[in-house]
Amino acid sequence: CAATRIFHSTRAPGDLPPESLPMTAAAYAFSLLSSSTLPGRPALVDAATGIAVSYPSFLAAVRSLAGGLWCSLGLRPGDVALVVAPSRLEVPVLDFALMSIGAVVSPANPASTPEEYAHQVALSRPVVAFAAPEVAAKLPGHVRCVVIGSDEYGRLAAPDGRRAAAPAAVAVKQSDTAAVLYSSGTTGRVKAVAITHRNLIALMSLHADNREKVAREAAEAGEEPPPPAVTLLPIPLFHVFGFMMVLRSVSMGETSVLMERFDFIAALRAIERYRVTLLPAAPPVLVAMVKYEEARRRDLSSLLVIGIGGAPLGREVAEQFASVFPNVELVQGYGLTESSGAVAATVGPEESKAYGSVGKLGSHLQAKIVDPSTGEALGPGQRGELWVRGPIVMKGKFSCERSLISRYVGDDEATAATVDSEGWLKTGDLCYFNEDGFLYIVDRLKELIKYKGYQVTAIAAQLVQNYIHASHLVKVVSQVPPAELEHILQSHPGIADAAVIPYPDEEAGELPMAFIVRQPGSNITKEQVMDYVAKQVAPYKKVRRVAFVTAIPKSPAGKILRRELVQQALSMVSKR
Ligand code: AMP
Repeated sequence: CAATRIFHSTRAPGDLPPESLPMTAAAYAFSLLSSSTLPGRPALVDAATGIAVSYPSFLAAVRSLAGGLWCSLGLRPGDVALVVAPSRLEVPVLDFALMSIGAVVSPANPASTPEEYAHQVALSRPVVAFAAPEVAAKLPGHVRCVVIGSDEYGRLAAPDGRRAAAPAAVAVKQSDTAAVLYSSGTTGRVKAVAITHRNLIALMSLHADNREKVAREAAEAGEEPPPPAVTLLPIPLFHVFGFMMVLRSVSMGETSVLMERFDFIAALRAIERYRVTLLPAAPPVLVAMVKYEEARRRDLSSLLVIGIGGAPLGREVAEQFASVFPNVELVQGYGLTESSGAVAATVGPEESKAYGSVGKLGSHLQAKIVDPSTGEALGPGQRGELWVRGPIVMKGKFSCERSLISRYVGDDEATAATVDSEGWLKTGDLCYFNEDGFLYIVDRLKELIKYKGYQVTAIAAQLVQNYIHASHLVKVVSQVPPAELEHILQSHPGIADAAVIPYPDEEAGELPMAFIVRQPGSNITKEQVMDYVAKQVAPYKKVRRVAFVTAIPKSPAGKILRRELVQQALSMVSKR
């Protein structure tokens, strides 16, 4: 029945602990760690310095800091702590220590402005902020600030002298908030998303399920299962993608190599130096791997998997990557802050060949594709808004006092609009499933370009056959997904990067306008850019304006900051 059409995950669901069991996400991660795998393998490595933290040291540091946070700072379950620092070794230790005592981790971007911090603080109301020295001065003065690396921090991190220890088990329900993450806010104001311990437990369990599937398939093919991953994290730890990858890495006893800030050449060097096997990254990294010679000059033979998510990845670029790096499996995944991580991903070499798709629904998840205008749930092959439900999804329920249940913090209206009473998260993304359960992301609904142009009605075209009279033309609004045009543009050898925005136009409403970064040595013209796209798309999707720029503004998670480009386009016109 179309109205109740629900897509269910086809992945084998692993064991989730009963929800009624009190447990923090940190305790769950540590329970998954098999002690026999610990000695010798580092939990964390700093890519720049090579300093490594072994698992025994990591666990001891977490325990010790948890004691300091509990006894000296007096943090208690439900207290929110802002963590504002680049990806340094202290950050995962702090995140785990906070979660282990039931305090709420709230990681924020160290490059934010004082105004942005003020907004975030107003939403999440932290009782303390842990900040890197260079960031501390930007935080609002009324928030108690502990500078990471200061003497005060040192005393918290090593309180042994005073025999300070956190209680072995704190009274934390899985439905309590573990983290408050900030969504990217590329199309609106940043939102603070409360993620529960249950959400994170389900997420780690989902990753464990995926690893089992890969190991099972390897065994069936008579091959060795992949070794524990050495993961390079050029993605920031304050974004849901990086935050979740560290949880995954620790729960599996794997190694995370941290990079303070993304630098493509430094990332290639780190892959060589640390024999990195897994690289989670945003799409621009994959584009750079394909476009820049340097990637081919390096010894990347250790790299087994590159996991791409966070923003749209074009089929064309994915195919080019597969032909340049045939031995690297391309995992494509899709998720939101509101879903605490990946809703869908390709798992295993077979699925990874579904280029352009973000794979299948993760275990325990359900989805609907909903027609945005009628509310009707659609079937395979039909495009509509993706709704998701399951244990990794923020619930949108409310509670009082210290224990917030997963929802947008400080914004009840937005929560109600995003998660309905049955727990469906409305993603705001235009998507479809194919018959085999593979999910395809077309674009964000809000970013579709509304181009109003003349089209021949189908009936009129049938009737008139050989000629078209003006009365058979109707003006219709067509929606153009900018990501589709960007993917085509990125596949051009003379184009290093591209972004498409809606350009205001009196006649058409909005026109697709392309911002182009030329490949070094390329002198591609505006006409060539427009022709290249026009040959591959329906007329209403043609790029109708072009500007050349030196870089496309992007968020740390690789999302194109289209609002900035729209401003840029408008100021170009006003200067004329
Ligand atoms: P955020 O929570 O800020 O990371 O943003 C989540 C949004 O990023 C999603 O709603 C999508 O619009 C976009 N996104 C994430 N992963 C993908 C992907 N693989 N392909 C296309 N869009 C993606």
